[in-house]
Amino acid sequence: MKYLKLAELYESLSATTKRLEKIEILSKFLKEVNESDREILYLLLGDIYPEYNEKKIGISSQLAIKAISKSTGTAKEKVVKEWKSIGDLGKVAEKLTKNKRQSTLQSNKSLSTEKVLENMKKLPELEGKGTVDKKISLITELLASASPIEALYLTRTLIGDLRIGIQESTIREAMNKAFFKGEASEKIQDAINKTNDLAVVFDLARKGDEKDLGKLHLEIGKPIKVMLAEKAKTIKEGFETVGKPCAIEYKYDGFRLLIHKKGEKVFLFTRRLENVTKQFPEVIDYIKKYVKGDSFILDSEAVGFDKKTKEYKPFQSVSQRIKRKYDIEKIKNELPIEINVFDILYYEGKSLLHEPFKKRTELIRKLIENHPYKIIHSKQIITDDEKKAEAFYKQALKDRQEGVMMKNLDAPYEPGRRVGNMLKIKPEERDLDLVITGGEYGTGKRSGWVSSFILSCYADGKYLEIGKVGTGFKEKEEEGVSFKGLTEKIKPLITEEKGKNVKIKPKIVVSVTYQEIQKSPTYSSGFALRFPRFTALRPDKSPSEATTLKEVEKDFEKQKRNWLYG
Ligand code: ATP
Repeated sequence: MKYLKLAELYESLSATTKRLEKIEILSKFLKEVNESDREILYLLLGDIYPEYNEKKIGISSQLAIKAISKSTGTAKEKVVKEWKSIGDLGKVAEKLTKNKRQSTLQSNKSLSTEKVLENMKKLPELEGKGTVDKKISLITELLASASPIEALYLTRTLIGDLRIGIQESTIREAMNKAFFKGEASEKIQDAINKTNDLAVVFDLARKGDEKDLGKLHLEIGKPIKVMLAEKAKTIKEGFETVGKPCAIEYKYDGFRLLIHKKGEKVFLFTRRLENVTKQFPEVIDYIKKYVKGDSFILDSEAVGFDKKTKEYKPFQSVSQRIKRKYDIEKIKNELPIEINVFDILYYEGKSLLHEPFKKRTELIRKLIENHPYKIIHSKQIITDDEKKAEAFYKQALKDRQEGVMMKNLDAPYEPGRRVGNMLKIKPEERDLDLVITGGEYGTGKRSGWVSSFILSCYADGKYLEIGKVGTGFKEKEEEGVSFKGLTEKIKPLITEEKGKNVKIKPKIVVSVTYQEIQKSPTYSSGFALRFPRFTALRPDKSPSEATTLKEVEKDFEKQKRNWLYG
């Protein structure tokens, strides 16, 4: 397909904010995409591979600036100047490409989506000496034959900031409308859940037969999204939502680990779908020794504990193991973890997603041989008695865990969804997980570093600002998360720069405590945080798992009630 056609689609999608219109536009477009162009489905989300593939385009604004400079024959300083005044690097590429066209009257060589994918896929493969130059030349090749509007969207795709307001669910509904008269939403979602691959689902959906969608299966080694929990305030409220009796389990304070096994092969994934198999060699051992079965997918929480006292440790103390790529043996001994298995999604060739939780949890108990401080099934009671439930909750807190989970015994496993069939209950605390979407460079001893970070919550595919945080960071790197350290992390994510202010691709999630939520016209969420304070980085959370606007509204209402009655 001509890339121009896709760029025009992006343009019309960004021209409307209405979801139904976006679905309509997209469904017409999808009807014209043929089988060989299926990978366009990835481009619609600004990607080149399915979500679980860890190869990302990953081009920084600085590198894109160099390529724009080269492809348009504009001095780098001028590109930077334009960027500072326009803000959006895509718009800069569009403007400079237009200028070049007018001066050279060069004709468009007609860029295809295949060529765009071909060059973009080479980018994450490059390593070693000369990588930067090779990347610039691959990008320049694309930009040099792009028309202004193509240059705009190529640049935005490269820096990971497409801004067309499309989510996976928009694409699902567009496929539903295009091929199933709007009647197969659930079946398509199920197919997406099992494969996590829009191109594969599109391939079958375009034939318009629901039965085809049912042919897709979970695959060992391909991570799927995890099911998430809603909050309940009390055990009583929990019972009202999930029903009686229900399963109550410890809510372990660790990180989520999805464990896949087939024969001798074991794969480990985080809730962000990152493959972390190499980081946890001991878990592979435990799985092979203590879990029966040839092929399965388990859902679990990995919790750190103190080697000597055997006391459980909070998440932050073991979080560094997730990203650690060196000295694995050493850190494995220093920061041991215990695997707490709480769900099973697949067993011996069969998906269990639609099986009731009761059956899944019973199966876990048959398959896992409990070995405390290595692998156990999560502590659980099944009860309809509020007193017993309260006592269990208290014990969980005594055992230094976060609280409890209450689970509906008949519920299926719904990947990627926050569901009311699984509730988390923990003591009141005022903290939010927010996404850094901007910042401001500091002055004086903090010049050169971003010293104030704009925070956003999540609402239907968008990030809405809710405040700025500049406290809770350390001055020195050795002491924890410092301004310098965080500035280095966000630098490659800068998408706009104006004076001291920068906009940042929503990628980094941080936990922030606060004193109070206030209504505020200053920020796009309509709320502001009073005295926000950074407490931790949350590398285990993806930006779309940040606190939602709805949750902020709820916390605001709760706070109001507390003032009135409390
Ligand atoms: P929080 O910030 O409160 O930990 P979250 O946003 O990280 O919550 P939620 O889905 O809201 O994630 O809360 C459930 C999380 O609790 C799961 O993602 C999982 O990592 C963890 N967890 C610990 N123990 C259990 C358990 N027994 N069953 C299910 N999830 C558990």
